[in-house]
Amino acid sequence: MTTFLKIRDLWKSFGQFVALRDISLDVIEGEFLCFLGPSGCGKTTLLRAIAGLDIQTAGTIHQAGKDVSNLPPAERDFGIVFQSYALFPNLTISENISFGLENAGKNKAEVKKRVDELLQLIGLPEQRDKYPAQLSGGQQQRIALARAIATSPGLLLLDEPLSALDAKVRVHLRHEMTELQRKLKVTTVMVTHDQEEALSMADRIVVMNHGVIEQVGTPTEIYTDPVSLFVADFIGEMNQVPAEVTKEGEVRVGNRTLLCRTGDFAPGSKVIAALRPEDVIPHDKDVRLPGTPDVIETLQNTFDVVIKEMEFLGSFWRTSVSDEEAEGLDLTADFSINAVRRLSLAVGEKI
Ligand code: ATP
Repeated sequence: MTTFLKIRDLWKSFGQFVALRDISLDVIEGEFLCFLGPSGCGKTTLLRAIAGLDIQTAGTIHQAGKDVSNLPPAERDFGIVFQSYALFPNLTISENISFGLENAGKNKAEVKKRVDELLQLIGLPEQRDKYPAQLSGGQQQRIALARAIATSPGLLLLDEPLSALDAKVRVHLRHEMTELQRKLKVTTVMVTHDQEEALSMADRIVVMNHGVIEQVGTPTEIYTDPVSLFVADFIGEMNQVPAEVTKEGEVRVGNRTLLCRTGDFAPGSKVIAALRPEDVIPHDKDVRLPGTPDVIETLQNTFDVVIKEMEFLGSFWRTSVSDEEAEGLDLTADFSINAVRRLSLAVGEKI
């Protein structure tokens, strides 16, 4: 794996305010990387520093082995797509796409060939003579993407490219953009605050908070092995249960003992135990679940609980359960429609 973008000890301040603190990061050639984090965490600032739209206060950026830390945007090799499509309203679609190609000194025939190719690639060959205002938001964003990759830049930067679109179009375009990225193998960095977008599109995710990187990992690593409570809580739903480590691999909650990964925490440590709602599995006392290793392991933490609330969310039931013996063991549990039907789960039932 070749490092394409090497960011080292990067700081960015706006006056007294420190927006990025000591960021070091390698972006691998050809990967799709997402910067994910809450509003104001510094994602856009980091993307703009990579583009040279803002110059960092300290630190360095190398792209394809070349020190670009102090180069203006025009001397860096990237294409960029913003949230607002930022197409030229008075130019046709093909003129919008060919803009950068003409600036790069391509002749007429080359430009026409490349524009045709790109319109084909984004699936809009019939729209070439229209103006941006005549297209839908999703179509305009595809044109913006075609314009960004027209000159085959080494790096594609995407700043919340889907967030202005409505939900259906967004999901559809997610798919198209990842497919296109994999086809072109262009190293891509996308900013998003939408965890689902990051999980579904990225090869790796950089989770940021308050100007620092909390964790870098594949979507499954970030989801199943969050390194901090912040990451655990920011991605997906997470139960947080105050607990005390009793020995390695075991915690106490109230007067209950649970098997739990305890990492580096010593016995006696007061901790927060974290548990995903979908990892709470319902069963009644008489029913044995099929004996897969996973299920046996899960069944080791078995308690009697009362169902307090149930909310139907379409593909599953979000449920609150409470263990009255163990103070503090109130959990959110996501139960499948099948499980709810099979066990006749209802509010007030004991399981
Ligand atoms: P969002 O998802 O809301 O766009 P973000 O993670 O992209 O958030 P940034 O835009 O990178 O956040 O901003 C990080 C912090 O730096 C914010 O607190 C913001 O107010 C501040 N900031 C960004 N640009 C400037 C600027 N030009 N001058 C002063 N402060 C700025």
